[in-house]
Amino acid sequence: MRDAKPCRVARRHFLAVTGGAACSLTAVSVTAGGAEAPSAAWRAGRRQEAGGVRRLTHPGFLDLQVNGFAGVDFNDTATTPDQVRHAAAVMRQHGVTRFLPTIISSSLATFEACARTVLRANEPAVAGIHLEGPYISTEDGARGAHRREDVAPASIDDFKRRQDAAEGRIRLVTLAPEVPGALALVEHLRASGIRVAIGHTAASPEQIREAVRAGATLSTHLGNGCANLLPRHPNFIWEQLAADELMASLIVDGHHLPPATVKTMVRAKTPRRVVLVTDAIAAAGQPPGEYQLGALRVRLDETGRAAVPGQPNLAGSALSLDRAVGNVVKFAGVSLEEALAMASTQPAAYLGVEPAGSLDLEWDPARFTLRVLRANG
Ligand SMILES: [Zn+2]
Repeated sequence: MRDAKPCRVARRHFLAVTGGAACSLTAVSVTAGGAEAPSAAWRAGRRQEAGGVRRLTHPGFLDLQVNGFAGVDFNDTATTPDQVRHAAAVMRQHGVTRFLPTIISSSLATFEACARTVLRANEPAVAGIHLEGPYISTEDGARGAHRREDVAPASIDDFKRRQDAAEGRIRLVTLAPEVPGALALVEHLRASGIRVAIGHTAASPEQIREAVRAGATLSTHLGNGCANLLPRHPNFIWEQLAADELMASLIVDGHHLPPATVKTMVRAKTPRRVVLVTDAIAAAGQPPGEYQLGALRVRLDETGRAAVPGQPNLAGSALSLDRAVGNVVKFAGVSLEEALAMASTQPAAYLGVEPAGSLDLEWDPARFTLRVLRANG
């Protein structure tokens, strides 16, 4: 079991992080004349058009689902608080000023060790913990990269033990509604002010409706964490697309969902009900190679696809949220403002918090490229 044998990331490359220096991206706007310092006009929110490239300020991003970043795995019991702070500093360079470290299906002991590390980092960007599993489907496909032996029936008592271990910081739980005990847990979580998401599921449409009635309000990475083959209709994807009570988180990296699927899902949910997440793992921001996701060894290939070698399922992503914003404009045809809201104000409102800080951004509409020039505050 992983508790007895914590694995180390095979390739970790840590940058020197020095307090305030890590808090803002050193890259600035590059013009024909060389580097240009960010101006006060940006901070005032004024936009500047230059050959189609546009500059703007915007509230910071909030990522509801981050398993790790920049060589750091939040699901590794050997990770240190310093490494959590390093991951947060690199995410900030991509615009993320708040995030939920996500701990996937694991034993209580492993969860406790990982949650304590995240909390001991005392990192202001950590807005709480996303508990993804262990109350999910045991089926191949639906389970995704979660290990079958870590999956468990839903239990209010088990959740309370995890919440105690996390010092009350679990803010979001992803579960499968068809798992025994799930509906009672959904009702308990709703009554406790904890957000409930549907994910890693093989539920019937009726079970989706029951979960919504009990208090589920989000679909976690809709279209992923499910069987490769489904009845054409009805099925739980249509049911979640049709449920206006559910927001949907999407991983828009070009690997998890084809562009036409992203476009269709965004139009079905409407842009206001979509949040962008990365589901990033330690491989994010790193070169191709082998990385760790909890007890799993994951290979990041040259195309940016992260998977357990020999298995068809993806295992998290190497996506950053600034790239997700550009991709959703490209794939779904939404405006930049709609895409930015999916990464900042909408996930923040979903959690019931304010976005933190502001970002100086540069948008190139010809390339669908968003650059974070500086994260302020
Ligand atoms: Zn997942």
